[in-house]
Amino acid sequence: MSLIQDWKNRRQTSKKQHRKLIDRLKREKSKKLNQLGDELHEEVFQEIDCLDCANCCTSIPPIVNRTDASRIAKHLGMKVTQFQNEYLHQDEDGDMVMNTSPCPFLQKDHTCLIYEFRPRACREYPHTDNFEFAEHFKLHKENMMYCPAVFHIVERIGEALK
Ligand code: SF4
Ligand code: SF4
Repeated sequence: MSLIQDWKNRRQTSKKQHRKLIDRLKREKSKKLNQLGDELHEEVFQEIDCLDCANCCTSIPPIVNRTDASRIAKHLGMKVTQFQNEYLHQDEDGDMVMNTSPCPFLQKDHTCLIYEFRPRACREYPHTDNFEFAEHFKLHKENMMYCPAVFHIVERIGEALK
C-alpha cells in the first residue's frame, strides 16, 4: 500500500495516539530530533511524490508575505496591489494568505503555475527538514492530518526513538 493511501486510511483513527507520540517526542533532545527529522524527511520523500498528493495546495492557504507578493506579481506582469486584490485576503490571524482553497495556482495535474516564484511558506512546507523539526511540534500535530509525509516522518521518528 502506498504511504498516501496508508495515511488516508489511518489519519483519523490514529489522532489520539499521534497526540501522545508528539508529547513523547517533545521530551527528547532537539539535536537528535532534528537529525532524525532530516534523515527521515529524505527517506519519506523518496517514497512519496507530492504530485500524487497536493493536499497542502488543496487545503491550506499559504501565507504570502510582501516579498512573495512582489516577486509573484512581477512574474505575472501585475502591479502588487492588483495581485493582492485579486489573489489574497487577510486570515483570522492577520496574515495575508491566498484567497481560495484549492490554491488559485494549483493546476489539474497538481503542478504549481508559479513554482519558481511560489511563496516562501510553500517552499518551506512541511517544516520537517533543515534541522528545524523540533521547532514545530504544534504544526506537526496539525499537519499529520493534512500531509502524509509529516504523518510518516513523525511515526518513523517515534519508532527510531522507542
Ligand atoms: S501535503 Fe505533504 S506530501 Fe502532500 S503535496 Fe503537500 S508536502 Fe507533499
Ligand atoms: S503557490 Fe503553488 S505551491 Fe503554493 S499552495 Fe499554490 S499551488 Fe501550491
